[in-house]
Amino acid sequence: MVIKNNIKAIKEELSAFSYKLVAVSKTQPIERLQEAYDAGQRIFGENKAQELALKYKALPKDIEWHMIGHLQTNKVKYIAPFVALIHSIDSIKLLEEVDKQGKKVNRKISCLLQVHIAKEETKFGFDLKEVKELMNSQELNNFSHVEIKGLMGMATFTENQEQIRNEFSLINQLFQKLKTQKLPTNVEMKELSIGMSADYKIAIEEGSTIVRVGTAIFGARNYN
Ligand SMILES: *Cc1c(COP(=O)(O)O)cnc(C)c1O
Repeated sequence: MVIKNNIKAIKEELSAFSYKLVAVSKTQPIERLQEAYDAGQRIFGENKAQELALKYKALPKDIEWHMIGHLQTNKVKYIAPFVALIHSIDSIKLLEEVDKQGKKVNRKISCLLQVHIAKEETKFGFDLKEVKELMNSQELNNFSHVEIKGLMGMATFTENQEQIRNEFSLINQLFQKLKTQKLPTNVEMKELSIGMSADYKIAIEEGSTIVRVGTAIFGARNYN
């Protein structure tokens, strides 16, 4: 009941907006995902390819699976046949591998470019300038089995709400600007994936179209 009520509370809080809710189920056992599924949730996000593939096998087939964490190139093959969206494209090398695996399974794989907006060294992604350069180059036209659907970002892990808002605003400005621009043929600026449990409300106010919420749905994660 707790999971169901949590999902309901988030939807009520965000009822004035249109967005997609990704239930971030990393480390959570199958029963808890099933509980969210029974409450009507159909989009789940995981940050490890093999865990994602195992859960895909165990759960109903109408679930949309999103890869949200740093993805190693040698793991792409585990999710390529079915993944609905990879949020975490953080290098051209990874995009090449996704394209290669997409060819193998004859699918165009939807992806977001992860943009580095946090004031932290550890967060993966392209910086704003690199994204602009990429959009003005021909490079992405080489990928026949990849479709770029937008951008993803993670704010700095901080209590400072203004800083979080500024970082989200920065990526939204880039997102909005690219929307008005001529883009490579396999690129479309449709989705902006920003916002997690602590900051989804701010993210939605700053233009998010996809929020990735774990703890606020499932409670604290157990990493043991
Ligand atoms: C874990 C994770 C989330 C969800 O975090 P919560 O704070 O539990 O909502 C969102 N996005 C990414 C990339 C994550 O790794």
